[in-house]
Amino acid sequence: MQSLRGTKDILPEEITSWQDIYYKVQQLFNKYNYNEIRTPIFEYTDLFFRSIGSDTDIINREMYSFKDKGERNITLRPEGTASIARAYITNKMHKHCKVNRLWYLGPMFRYERPQKGRQRQFHQLGIECIGSSSPLADTEIIRIADKILQTFYLDHYSIEINSLGNLEERAMYREKLKEYLNPYEKDLDEDSKKRLVNNPLRILDSKNLQVKEILSSAPRLTTFLKSKSMNHFYKVCEHLAYLNIPYVINEKLVRGLDYYNYTAFEIKTDQLGAQETICGGGRYDKLIEQLGGPATPSVGWAIGIERLLMLVKDKPYCSSKQLNIYIIAQGAESQKQAWNIIKIIEECNINFHLDLTEYSLTKKLGQANLLNAQVCFIIAEEEIKNNYITAKWLKNSSQQRIEFPYLKAYINAHKYLLNKKVAQ
Ligand code: ATP
Ligand code: MG
Repeated sequence: MQSLRGTKDILPEEITSWQDIYYKVQQLFNKYNYNEIRTPIFEYTDLFFRSIGSDTDIINREMYSFKDKGERNITLRPEGTASIARAYITNKMHKHCKVNRLWYLGPMFRYERPQKGRQRQFHQLGIECIGSSSPLADTEIIRIADKILQTFYLDHYSIEINSLGNLEERAMYREKLKEYLNPYEKDLDEDSKKRLVNNPLRILDSKNLQVKEILSSAPRLTTFLKSKSMNHFYKVCEHLAYLNIPYVINEKLVRGLDYYNYTAFEIKTDQLGAQETICGGGRYDKLIEQLGGPATPSVGWAIGIERLLMLVKDKPYCSSKQLNIYIIAQGAESQKQAWNIIKIIEECNINFHLDLTEYSLTKKLGQANLLNAQVCFIIAEEEIKNNYITAKWLKNSSQQRIEFPYLKAYINAHKYLLNKKVAQ
């Protein structure tokens, strides 16, 4: 049996990294008063059509859409923002407070060509700051993205930022860009030719060298931005500079989704080959209104967890999980006594593994080693008869006899030797 193309099992040996990410970001978001939200992984297809925009890669070719048995058109969510905007409206979250700070982590689905760092089911960690038009909100979320990457000891990344202006300014620019590119149509690559008709701004993003050359004298988006848009952009840049967060302005940065206005940004690294973007985000002031909610300026980003994991793989925080106590009980009486031992270990808040094999003692010890256990608690006939247990430390093979009534004191006295990370 094979898993579906572009999907991956996350195996127990990898799961500690996932849990670490969840644990660390949860702590961080608590600090900044961002609250976790979990929305369904499928929604009405229409939600994504109305939010992401009809001439985008996601809508044109990447959606997992189907009809359910009730003939509803449904799509597995390709990204988080549309669902959160929907949830914000459905649950009338604006009534609760003016600014809602939210975060999420979960699977997203896009029908793409699978390659390193690109899957069909992948995971995004994202935040949305809903209800503020202040450039401080844009700065706050970029600062948090930067903090997260630093929490995982990442370097070698750069923050690229641009302003897309408001929707009218962008529409005007779109026409001018189209006018400029039309005479070059035959020189464009196939993708750009298609985009020229439906979504010419996306051509700015092209990696094709000839297209890049043509674009070098194309009209610039900034020249179409009026003072309100420019002021917002300058303020964000000013605050980032004040915070000493390095950034570069990339005038060609346009995002693959239609709902952005004003700020758009990406965080890129040179360590992931073609899949160089780890984080993408921006401001979406009209989205919630467009979906039928109140006018609610908002800004957010999403980080691809698989790409983040590829970057943090060799970083020091990624310690593998250690097992503390391996319990070996031989014989019917010993097996009952094992439950009493477990009770004491639980009280000490230490992790343990009860041996369930039919192996010989030597082979059982082999299993304990395999699981990276620190110490084996062994109970057999002799131990039961004299009410003690044998503790065998695997790293140095030292062995001790512990009278059963002193077991708790013994564990507590040795806690410093046991892995604190697991015991947290
Ligand atoms: P790309 O240009 O790589 O296709 P995108 O612009 O489609 O990215 P966004 O929609 O901005 O990506 O999603 C935010 C982040 O989610 C990306 O920067 C990336 O880290 C991650 N991501 C997007 N698509 C995938 C995928 N198919 N597999 C793994 N991660 C992905
Ligand atoms: Mg994409």
